[in-house]
Amino acid sequence: MPLATVNPATGETLRTFDALDAEEVERRLAAAEAAFRTHRTTSFAERARLLRAAADLLEADEREIAEVMTTEMGKPVTQARAEAAKCVKAMRWYADHAEGLLADEEPAEADVKDSGASRAFVRYRPLGPVLAVMPWNFPLWQVIRFAAPALMAGNVGLLKHASNVPQTALYLEELFRRAGYPEGCFQTLLIGSKEVEGVLRDPRVVAATLTGSEPAGRSVAAVAGDEIKKTVLELGGSDPFVVMPSADLDRAAEVAVTARVQNNGQSCIAAKRFIVHTDVYDAFAQRFTAAMKALKVGDPMDEETQVGPVASERGRADLEELVEDAVEHGATVLCGGERPDGPGWYYPPTVLADITPGMRVHHEETFGPVATLYRAADLDEAVAIANDSPFGLSSNVWTREEADVDRFVRDLEAGAVYVNGMTASHPAFPFGGIKRSGYGRELSGHGIREFCNITAVWQG
Ligand code: NDP
Repeated sequence: MPLATVNPATGETLRTFDALDAEEVERRLAAAEAAFRTHRTTSFAERARLLRAAADLLEADEREIAEVMTTEMGKPVTQARAEAAKCVKAMRWYADHAEGLLADEEPAEADVKDSGASRAFVRYRPLGPVLAVMPWNFPLWQVIRFAAPALMAGNVGLLKHASNVPQTALYLEELFRRAGYPEGCFQTLLIGSKEVEGVLRDPRVVAATLTGSEPAGRSVAAVAGDEIKKTVLELGGSDPFVVMPSADLDRAAEVAVTARVQNNGQSCIAAKRFIVHTDVYDAFAQRFTAAMKALKVGDPMDEETQVGPVASERGRADLEELVEDAVEHGATVLCGGERPDGPGWYYPPTVLADITPGMRVHHEETFGPVATLYRAADLDEAVAIANDSPFGLSSNVWTREEADVDRFVRDLEAGAVYVNGMTASHPAFPFGGIKRSGYGRELSGHGIREFCNITAVWQG
């Protein structure tokens, strides 16, 4: 993929960028190593001061960077601003909490004594330069979600961002530089995905985190495995959204629409499969389809727009193929399903019913505004359909019965269960999946400790 800003609303190439040459990559790896030697010894107070400075700058830049993101990947500009604000919040949260999250841990006194120590504790020490391979769908948030905890832990970051968001990638490097971080603490490597292996095999890079597709995750994890380097993978999702008879149907249908079409439907934690108890199936399907049809699709720079274009031509073609395959195999189109004429990579909000396991949409991720509807006879069947997916990122359930909640929390194969609400990440909660959605966790104390050397200290 060329490194370029191509506006998804028009298909026009606005700017292209040259990839870094080998000499420049080498210079940056050396800078990362040198920066780590100092950054690892800084106090939490100093790290928090720098991160707060970066948060303040980002807050001031919110409108400007939101327009850059919308131009590069097509999300509605109102959602781009919300993304910037969410980053500011997460940066401040880690500035406030990292020291507590990484405080020394002391084993029980009896165990210390049993080990023969006069004193023993666990210390979370930084690891070194971490490579972050990041996607275009939340081009600020995915990076900040990694960078804020990594920098607070004393690590330094190397960002290989998606090729279609080069201006956002360069903005991020500049943001940390302007905040006062020493050279090398956070760098953007404008390189293609073929260059990732070389960087990851470099002994100065100690670990990697990747958010993106399964093939990208597999490839990075294979190289890291060969090098015995730690990885965190946050890959795709096909989250279930289960509606039970006791649910508030109006609210469930309204949230279902947002949960599906947020970010033009291109979110790993978007609800994608809507599994509805047969007693309320028709009522939910009617409300949900009507609300999907009523969405305002259009220019993502327009403040009123709710759904903009898909980020790339390939992305729209993939989506169309999934819908065509479902229809060929007997799915019913309740709304949408036809690409509009005209420039840009628009695709209408689409609802497909009568889904069967033979269809690709049943087990593949739909990365765009396409929802699939399933009818479940009872709770057991709802759980079975929900779990019949290679993915296990998050899940959403709608019910007023506590017994249902207990069953879903016990049985759903996912990294999160959201009850009567849609999945949304928060700095204080762990974020990540199981199965083909990846492994490891981001955010919270679990996220910041992923790239730490958990050091046992024993004193005789
Ligand atoms: P990719 O997984 O290809 O891209 C994500 C990042 O990985 C980019 O920085 C990309 O670089 C890099 N990358 C891709 N292949 C490799 C590789 N072999 N080795 C190292 N790095 C690699 O996502 P796409 O944009 O192609 O989207 C395809 C699908 O992935 C979507 O339809 C969706 O299903 C899923 N996806 C999931 C996301 C999530 O949030 N979990 C986010 C984005 C996509 P480059 O851009 O240079 O190729």
